[in-house]
Amino acid sequence: ASKIRQGLARTRQNLGKQLTGLFGGRKIDEALYEELETALLTADTGIAATNRLLESLRKRVKRDALSDSEQLKTALQDALVELLQPMARPLETAEKQPFVIMITGVNGVGKTTTIGKLAHYFQAQGQSVLLAAGDTYRAAAQEQLKIWGERNNITVIAQDNEPGRKSDPAAVIFDAITAARARHIDIVLADTAGRLTTQLHLMEEIKKIKRVITKAIPDAPHEVLLVLDANTGQNAVSQLKAFDEALGVTGLVLTKLDGTAKGGVIAAIAAQYADLPPALRFVGVGEGLDDLRPFDAKEFAEALFD
Ligand code: GDP
Repeated sequence: ASKIRQGLARTRQNLGKQLTGLFGGRKIDEALYEELETALLTADTGIAATNRLLESLRKRVKRDALSDSEQLKTALQDALVELLQPMARPLETAEKQPFVIMITGVNGVGKTTTIGKLAHYFQAQGQSVLLAAGDTYRAAAQEQLKIWGERNNITVIAQDNEPGRKSDPAAVIFDAITAARARHIDIVLADTAGRLTTQLHLMEEIKKIKRVITKAIPDAPHEVLLVLDANTGQNAVSQLKAFDEALGVTGLVLTKLDGTAKGGVIAAIAAQYADLPPALRFVGVGEGLDDLRPFDAKEFAEALFD
């Protein structure tokens, strides 16, 4: 079984409970659409995405004159792939050196773990990585990154721990970018402090960090990556909205897809955008370094219903 399949086991079980009996041997009627609607909403697909999926499903049923509810399953998978495909845009880092990735997200979503996984992912592809420990609010987070970096042969630029020295995340990240240029590093992963989106001045601070990155390299950050926790369901949608307004989010990582019943949140995010949604670069499907996968819409849709 693929990692995505394993990861989505809970979402699938949950949906499955609701869908048992829906797919197979039933007439396609209004009652069936209603049950389907409930199942999708339960998986945190949200109203907008659920409506879009059902609408697309009705069209397919009409167009292909589907009569058997077993065919409905494939049609729903196809509708889901169509909705999610615009988000399946892998991260291309080759054009810039260093390629600067600014990493944001509120505390607890799995940001530190994701940074480790990302560093591992790029290294495995033969790219050199430098970490900027810009989360200066959490001394423990910085220590964690430093130790991790030493163990994995990755330079971590952090703030000096001299007493009385003011913590300035923007300065740490500026130094890191300067170091990365001097050393011809391929990828800079710039960590920023977790932010409660309601705290306005804190949002102002990450905006400042972004400006400082642009000062270091005019077209950077090349990626503003937002880490979201799939368990938070619809909350993830509001976090995206707030960070996007402040920073212009270009890419997402959705963590903890394993062990959540709320995998439908991916569709909820896609449905928020009439035009192009941010790219879902990776999904996290476990705590290990290898448990980060590039997002594949078809693989996701298939793993959800099988
Ligand atoms: P941060 O506060 O955002 O930096 O969060 P951490 O990286 O410290 O992660 C918080 C917890 O979530 C830790 O126990 C991680 O092991 C766990 N975690 C992170 N990503 C995943 C994931 O994809 N799957 C699972 N199951 N746990 C994860």
